Amino acid sequence: MEQFKAFWITKEEDAKKPNAAEWRDITIDDLSAGDTVVRVVNSTVNYKDGLAFAGNPGVLRKFPMVPGIDVIGEVVTSESDRFKEGDQVIMNGFGVGEVHTGAYAKYARLKSEWLIKRPEGLSAERAAAIGTAGYTAMLCVMALEDYGIKPNMGPVAVSGAAGGVGSVAVSILAKLGYTVIASTGRLEEADFLKGLGASEVMDRAELSEPGRPFGKESWAAAIDVAGSHTLANLLARTNYGGAVAACGLAQGMDLPATVMPFILRGVSLLGVDSVMAPIERRQEAYRRLVEDLELSKLDALSSKIKLSEVPEKAADILKGKVRGRLIVDYSEL
Ligand code: NDP
Repeated sequence: MEQFKAFWITKEEDAKKPNAAEWRDITIDDLSAGDTVVRVVNSTVNYKDGLAFAGNPGVLRKFPMVPGIDVIGEVVTSESDRFKEGDQVIMNGFGVGEVHTGAYAKYARLKSEWLIKRPEGLSAERAAAIGTAGYTAMLCVMALEDYGIKPNMGPVAVSGAAGGVGSVAVSILAKLGYTVIASTGRLEEADFLKGLGASEVMDRAELSEPGRPFGKESWAAAIDVAGSHTLANLLARTNYGGAVAACGLAQGMDLPATVMPFILRGVSLLGVDSVMAPIERRQEAYRRLVEDLELSKLDALSSKIKLSEVPEKAADILKGKVRGRLIVDYSEL
């Protein structure tokens, strides 16, 4: 049986934390069960992958585990009628890289119901650049649109704008004609963010400190990746009838807010989850990404790394040191 390389995380039964990821040889039988084997062509590094390499127990819930939540690859074998050898597929989330062995190996064994076909016109590298972060950015934009937010209603604020979800959200919103206020802790990235289409760049300190329950109306809507005080302040400064799409916890999982924006301004808080989103919603998100994300901007916010560099970048992403999106190249395998 073919042996191939994988990042492999083990944990002793009574240990609090798992062992550091090892780079070792495994076989298909070491992978979680599934009806479809995919050769991984590209992947990426998301915030959640950073948490996995750090041994976060909320992410890694089964051992041994191959981390990596995004698979972009080619079907090798499938027991499903929907897929055949050579099909180009994308898989984001569904607990892969958390409770089901994931992307950071030459092969992934997955359930066919988790896979979508990679859209025509979207290369494997660009699909990796999008990854869970980019697809979540699109889900956030779709949540605001479904709520009724339109470009003529006023600006949209985006937190964590220099990160993965944030940078893709800025690019999509700008292409759709929204005025975008990009909030970042990295003011040195102001030109990068303006290049993606932000009209204004705001110091994230303005949002990340404890604020008043009710502030000056400043934006029609917001996309938040940070949670905690940032989300509370975004809500407190949303215009009458506006909405905030919340998807992340980069600052914290708490929400130190009051009900004032909800009951006096009719502001809504829209939760966004990518992991268990239904397949039709995913297909729609990718259709929209192909249409509404300028590929030149996607290329501008992406950089390429080798699979062996993933642990280092996984540590960087938790420190907020990764700009935009990373494309993991598997050609060394
Ligand atoms: P990144 O690390 O790429 O981006 C996060 C950004 O948040 C950082 O770059 C930084 O942006 C900002 N940030 C970091 N620390 C703080 C802080 N203390 N206060 C305020 N802002 C901060 O991660 P992703 O974009 O991949 O993910 C962002 C969040 O969204 C994560 O919490 C992730 O778990 C979550 N997520 C949730 C999904 C879902 O399904 N709900 C799917 C995907 C991601 P800057 O330097 O510009 O300030």
